Parts: sequence; structure tokens; C-alpha cells
Amino acid sequence: MGVEVNFEGKVALITGASSGLGARFAKVLAMAGAQVILASRRIDHLKELRAEIEAEGGAAHVVALDVTDYASIKSAVAHAETEAGAIDILVNNAGVSSSQRLIDVTPEDYAYVTDTNQRGAFFVAQEVAKRMILRYKGDARKQHRIINIASLAGQRVVPELAVYCMSKAAVIQMTKSMALEWGQFGINVNAICPGYIGTEINLDHFSSEQGRQLINTLPRKRIGKPEDLDGLLLLLAAEESHFINGAIMNADDGMGVQ
Ligand code: NAD
Repeated sequence: MGVEVNFEGKVALITGASSGLGARFAKVLAMAGAQVILASRRIDHLKELRAEIEAEGGAAHVVALDVTDYASIKSAVAHAETEAGAIDILVNNAGVSSSQRLIDVTPEDYAYVTDTNQRGAFFVAQEVAKRMILRYKGDARKQHRIINIASLAGQRVVPELAVYCMSKAAVIQMTKSMALEWGQFGINVNAICPGYIGTEINLDHFSSEQGRQLINTLPRKRIGKPEDLDGLLLLLAAEESHFINGAIMNADDGMGVQ
């Protein structure tokens, strides 16, 4: 007897799919049978990813999205549903980071991080949820999924990364609020808090001497790869996880218990 997680017939929107974790999330869901909508600002990268997914037999669409622009969010979600059909799964992943001491943070630095990580993530989820709520027919098992990509940095203080930490703490609180308010409409909202995963957002840092020293302080002296989140993503996206709502789940190689 075997158990198989199958996403055939599902439509998944992945924001920030042009690199790193978002690109990997899109590939995994596509390989598991979902039609994926790749949304971000860098359309050339998305087209390359679409070609890769199609070459492996998956189905992918490309949609332009700037999460800092409310009009762009509304038109991207509408475009996504016209192209691929009703969205079942949102992976709310687009994010940015910037590093300063607290006394050096300018209003521009603050807005750069919060407009994307906090305000952007909120309005993407809201726009998708409005449509999911309208479609809800009361089937407790066939639920919709919103997976917010927060961070372990939303639970602990990281030096010179305060605004990023604050924005991810907001995503954690947002996840719980959405789970509470939207659960009754068949939407499960959960958050993944990755530890350090090597991607564009941090590879420069991890190649530096300071970065190497940081890796040596981690429980297993290693950072992760985007594919290390595959299992948790599939769990939270699957119908089998319909009893998990409002969970904040770490995938951090044990860093959170240090
Ligand atoms: P990344 O820089 O490779 O990916 C971020 C993606 O977000 C990019 O595709 C970028 O184009 C997109 N994006 C940024 N601003 C956008 C905007 N205004 N509109 C649309 N798309 C936008 O970095 P990543 O590591 O893949 O990060 C993905 C998510 O994971 C982020 O939310 C990040 O905070 C979170 N995260 C990453 C790590 C890590 O160690 N890599 C750890 C914890 C959390």
C-alpha cells in the first residue's frame, strides 16, 4: 500500500518565483502535478523557468507582478485566474532584505522592506482570498491553501536586520489572523519559517568571511538548499493537511532551538 500526494487539477500562484525559494516552490508543485503561475517582476527569469518546467512535462504560466503596487496585485491575480483558472494554492513568497544598524535605518530603507514583505504579502493574500471566499461551497476537505513565507528571523533578533525581522514577525501574526478569520471559508493559512537557505538574498553574505563564521555557529554548521523545503511545502499545500491551520512551521535545521 502506498500514499501519494497528487496536485493534478490544482492551480498554484507563486510570488517571487523568479529566483531562489520561489522558483523551487514552483518547480516542486509543477512536478507534483499542479498548474503553476509564476509571478514576479523579472519576466525573463520567469519565462526561463516556465521553459524548464514545460521541458519536464509540467504546466506553467507567467504573470507580471510587483507586490509593492496594489494595482499590479489586483491585475496579476485577475490575469492569473484568466490564464490558469481558479487559484487553489497561494505561495506568498516575494521578499527582500536590507541590513543596517537601527540608528542608520532611513524611511526609504524601512519602506523598501516593509512595502514588500509586510504590506505586499498582506494585499496579495487578501486579493487571492477574496476570490477563494466567493468560491467556497462548504466542502471541509477541499480547502484552499495560503502558505506565507515568513522566516526564523520573525521569531528572534538578528543583528543589523531589525526591519527585516519586524516585517517577518508581522507575517507570522498576519498568518494567525488570516487563519482565524478565513478558516471558516475553507482557507488554511500557514507559515513556513526557513532558517538560512542559500539563495540570491544572502549568497554574497555567506561567501564572505563574516558569513562563513556565521555558518560555523549553526547547529550542524551548514545552510540549506531551496529543495530542503520541498517536504514542508508539499505538506502544507496538500489536501491531507486540512486540519493544519494557523501553524507557524520552522524548517531551520534546528537553529530555532539553539
Ligand atoms: P530571492 O531574493 O532569491 O527571492 C526573492 C524573490 O522575491 C525574487 O524572485 C524577487 O524578484 C521577488 N521580489 C522581490 N520584491 C518583489 C516585488 N516587489 N514584487 C514581486 N516580486 C518581488 O530570495 P529567497 O531566499 O528565495 O527569498 C524568498 C522568501 O524566503 C523571502 O520572503 C525571504 O524573506 C524568505 N526567506 C529566505 C530565507 C533564506 O535564507 N533564503 C530565510 C528565511 C526566509
